[in-house]
Formats: sequence, structure tokens, C-alpha cells
Amino acid sequence: MDLGISGKRALVCASSKGLGFGCAEALAAAGVNLVMNARGAEALEAAAAKLRDAHGVDVATVAADITSEEGRAAVLEAAGQVDILVTNAGGPPPGMWHDWSRDDFIAALDANMLTPIALMQAVLPGMMERGWGRVVNITSQSVKAPIPQLGLSNAARTGLTGFVAGTARQVAPSGVTINNLLPGIHATDRAEALDGPVAKAEGITIEEAQARRASTIPARRYGTSEEFGATCAFLCSQHAGFIVGQNILLDGGGVNATL
Ligand code: NAP
Repeated sequence: MDLGISGKRALVCASSKGLGFGCAEALAAAGVNLVMNARGAEALEAAAAKLRDAHGVDVATVAADITSEEGRAAVLEAAGQVDILVTNAGGPPPGMWHDWSRDDFIAALDANMLTPIALMQAVLPGMMERGWGRVVNITSQSVKAPIPQLGLSNAARTGLTGFVAGTARQVAPSGVTINNLLPGIHATDRAEALDGPVAKAEGITIEEAQARRASTIPARRYGTSEEFGATCAFLCSQHAGFIVGQNILLDGGGVNATL
């Protein structure tokens, strides 16, 4: 399917690896020029080179922490006028509800709620003026079904979801859509970082921990960055202009709910 977005320009945050890279790759395959971001310059440059070589699109890179004010300023300056924004950042650490301090909550809110909001506030006016834009926020299945040990994530991402629900409807008349993608478990570094401690605590291998987790998912496997990216690219396509303010779960059926 021709997504109809060849030649557009996208800012994909936190995209040297994992789900962000999957989104950047699928957009590049659709002919979209990219601004990619991550903190580590080496992996970022390698990821950008891979997409330039494979798809012949322009790829600019900005090595910066997207959750810091300076990092965001550098990324937004390099990005300039963008048609597509994919927000993403690392997730908060796991823990127990009684251990988190005010500072822990502020850090999680900064990274996973206020950073995507600040990025949207920066790019939405230009998109609205030009009458076309797509924003996809990478959030988490924890918005629909809480993951108890990820309380910081549950809290911050639910706040973002509330903001998007209202804002998406305010910008839709200008041809701009905002939607959220909610990953369930996907085979990325982040998943390994969560499975590792479980394996250690239970005295099993990480493969055993992953197999056990996969067995609880109706699809009986982890998702891939490629299939996640393809869904993101579709949401950014010309065909998705009537999808507004939605929360789309990619979880292999993991959240057991009728709606
Ligand atoms: P990942 O494989 O660990 O990749 C994270 C990417 O983001 C890397 O490119 C990393 O590069 C970059 N990054 C992290 N923090 C950043 C920052 N502050 N500024 C700029 N770039 C940053 O993670 P993932 O699995 O793709 O997860 C992406 C998001 O989805 C996370 O918020 C995660 O919590 C959420 N999520 C993931 C899953 C899953 O199963 N994978 C499930 C639910 C939710 P650098 O480290 O070099 O910056």
C-alpha cells in the first residue's frame, strides 16, 4: 500500500533502537525524510546510516537527552518544520509504590508526560498552519491495564493520555491527528532490562523468564519493532486522517478486555 507520505519530514525521538527505530525504519521505507534522536551518538549514527543506505531518504541526527530542556531545544532546532512527530523516551524504572519520592514522580512525569507535551506544543502550530500533520506518541499497555511494579509509568503515561484525548480534538479541524500507540511486551532492550531482574530473582535463565512471559500472551510471543513501526507508519499515512485521539494497543491480546 502506498502510504502517500513520501517526501514528508518526520522527527522520531529516541529512535536509535527498539520501538523508536522500528517507527523510523517504517517511515523511511515510505519515503519519509527523518530527524532521528537518541542520547548515544554511536548507535544513533549507525541506525541513521542503515536507513539512508536502505531507503535513500535524508536522515539528520541529534544526539541529546530528549527529556531535558536543552536536549529538546537542540532537537527541535535541527528538526525545523516537521510534518510528522513520533514521541518516545526510555521508560521509568520498576519499583514499589511505597519507595517512590516526589523527585521520582517528577522525573517520570518529565520524561513520559511533559516531554511529549512540550514537543507537541512546539510542532502543532506549524502543522495546523500548513493544514496537515501526524503525531504518534509511544506510550504503554499500562495505560489500559496497570503493571503494578511500573507505577511511575502507569501514572505519567495516563496523564499524557488525558492531555492527548482533549488536544487531539482541538487540532483535528486543521488536518492534524494525534494518536497513541500502546505497546505490550516487545522484544527490545527494554524488555530484556525488565526480564533480567525477574530471571535473577527466581533463579531461572532469561530465556526461561521470556518463555514464561510469552506463554501468558494469547499470541504466545513478544511483538517485534518491525510490526510496531508498520502500525506507526500507517497512523502517519494519508489513509489514517479519520483516526483521531485513539489509543491503539499492540499487545498480542495480552490485555484481557472486550473493549
Ligand atoms: P529500548 O529498546 O531500550 O530503546 C530505547 C531507545 O530510546 C534507544 O534508542 C535509546 O537510546 C533511546 N532513549 C532512551 N532514553 C532517551 C532519552 N532520554 N533521550 C533520547 N533518547 C532516549 O526501548 P523500547 O523497548 O523501544 O521502548 C520504548 C518506549 O516504549 C519506552 O518508554 C518503554 O518504556 C515503552 N514500552 C516498551 C515496551 C516493550 O516491551 N519494549 C512495552 C511497553 C512500553 P539511548 O539510550 O542512546 O538514548
